[in-house]
Amino acid sequence: MATPRSEEGAAEAPEEAAASVSEGAGRRRSSGVEVLVSQDAPGPAPHCPHGPTLLFVRVNQGKEEARRFYACSACRDRKDCNFFQWEDEKLSEARLAAREIYNRRCQPPLSHKQYVERYWKFIELPLSQRKFCQRCQQLLLPDDWGKHHDHQVLCDISIAQLKRPSQLLYPLENKKTNAQYLFTDRSCQFLLDLISTLGFRKVLCVGTPRLHELIRLKASGDKESDIKSLLLDIDFRYSQFYTEESFCHYNMFNHHFFDGKAALESCRKFLQEDKDLGLILVTDPPFGGLVEPLTVTFKKFMEMWKEGQSPDNDNKELPLFWIFPYFFESRILQFFPSFSMLDYQVDYDNHALYKHGKTGRKQSPVRIFTNIPPNKIILPAEEGYRFCTVCQRYVSLENQHCEICNSCTSKDGRKWRHCLLCKKCVKPSWIHCSICNYCALPNHSCAGPKDGCFICGESDHKRTMCPNYSSSKRANKAVRKEKQKKSNKMKMETNKGQSMNHATVTRKKKKKKRGQQYPCS
Ligand code: SAH
Ligand code: ZN
Ligand code: ZN
Ligand code: ZN
Ligand code: ZN
Repeated sequence: MATPRSEEGAAEAPEEAAASVSEGAGRRRSSGVEVLVSQDAPGPAPHCPHGPTLLFVRVNQGKEEARRFYACSACRDRKDCNFFQWEDEKLSEARLAAREIYNRRCQPPLSHKQYVERYWKFIELPLSQRKFCQRCQQLLLPDDWGKHHDHQVLCDISIAQLKRPSQLLYPLENKKTNAQYLFTDRSCQFLLDLISTLGFRKVLCVGTPRLHELIRLKASGDKESDIKSLLLDIDFRYSQFYTEESFCHYNMFNHHFFDGKAALESCRKFLQEDKDLGLILVTDPPFGGLVEPLTVTFKKFMEMWKEGQSPDNDNKELPLFWIFPYFFESRILQFFPSFSMLDYQVDYDNHALYKHGKTGRKQSPVRIFTNIPPNKIILPAEEGYRFCTVCQRYVSLENQHCEICNSCTSKDGRKWRHCLLCKKCVKPSWIHCSICNYCALPNHSCAGPKDGCFICGESDHKRTMCPNYSSSKRANKAVRKEKQKKSNKMKMETNKGQSMNHATVTRKKKKKKRGQQYPCS
């Protein structure tokens, strides 16, 4: 999927792409794929290298096709994980065994424990012997030097560098699976200040390695005031830098802990222990990710947290920051009605387009969704945010209070304009079209839904930005390929993966496929 974080996605940012349909128009589905969340799934799902798969159904002209299938929860591209299985498909023992072997082969070469042991050895070394292989993204011990002698190796790795793994590691760039967009210092510092102003002392970081890192950097060692943090992320490279108490290799689309029960328990412990210290979950999932499975996951964390609370706190909810683009607002609110979207624009270091202010070509569309009352969240005045007393929240500079809507209506940071005919505020670039009977870009074609999304029929994004885009693409391809796959499936399951250890990917391949998460995915 071209995620909004990707350049392709940005080229089709909704302000350019979308036409407006009145909000009541509902979801029009032409054809696409829907994920069926856990309660719809009958039995245990088969596993791919990324843990339990998800059950999908193809939707054609609003009608569900009968045959449902399992596919990878984490990878939105069959190139990254080609798992496919019809729901009613029976597999032979031999195939199941081959799949298990394959799945195991796709796991990181060392266990987290082994990585941690290596880390302790590494910091014992004198500075001159501390090397990091950039090609293999690996801390090297003297015994490894030979294998990496013709790789690009960084020397004299200081403790300060080890404390900033997100700068040492290159950001994964695989747009379809897990592009890593790292917070700018401005956004990261803002989040941390906010968390600490709100009185939180523990942070469960789900897919926010840089925030985790900043929290730990700021820790003075003073147990009373320090904020504790646990990072859950699918990027196992972090196992080299953090112990089992501060990092779990984790898939947020199926709530899968790659290191099994022990890791789940250490996460549970983190959520439930020292319950007097306020805890908040902060997550910044890949934007292409499906919203439903994420909500299932966050609800699991909420439950787990609740189990640890005293009964008199029964109506309390685990505080949560979900960082996601503003055009997912209605989707997120559908699942979390108590949430609201803040006006703060989150921006990223390695995203040229979505940078704050004048440095980027555009304003960032990324916002914070939260169940903390927005009037408690002070946005920085020096960046132009101001408090709207009517709305009881901080809004961005250009977001003006509309007397008719009685709200600060802008979503994208620009000044919106009220359309009397549409009875709502619209983007400044839109004009009211008398044929379509709603506001749209001047150059829209008056054929209605054509301007919206082909897959789900929503008007505020194009097909490539649809939360269902790649899964539908994947499904269509998957179904097409199914026949072909049948014939050579054994070949695939036994041959693939054994050769491409992540430590041996060539530079050229790496450049092309940077961001590959697993050796054989
Ligand atoms: N802005 C954040 C990074 C967000 S990028 C920061 O600076 O800290 C998305 C993050 O989610 C990446 O760290 C990526 O590795 C992680 N991620 C991607 N897919 C994931 C999955 N299925 N499960 C868990 N983490 C995932
Ligand atoms: Zn997978
Ligand atoms: Zn190397
Ligand atoms: Zn208005
Ligand atoms: Zn209008």
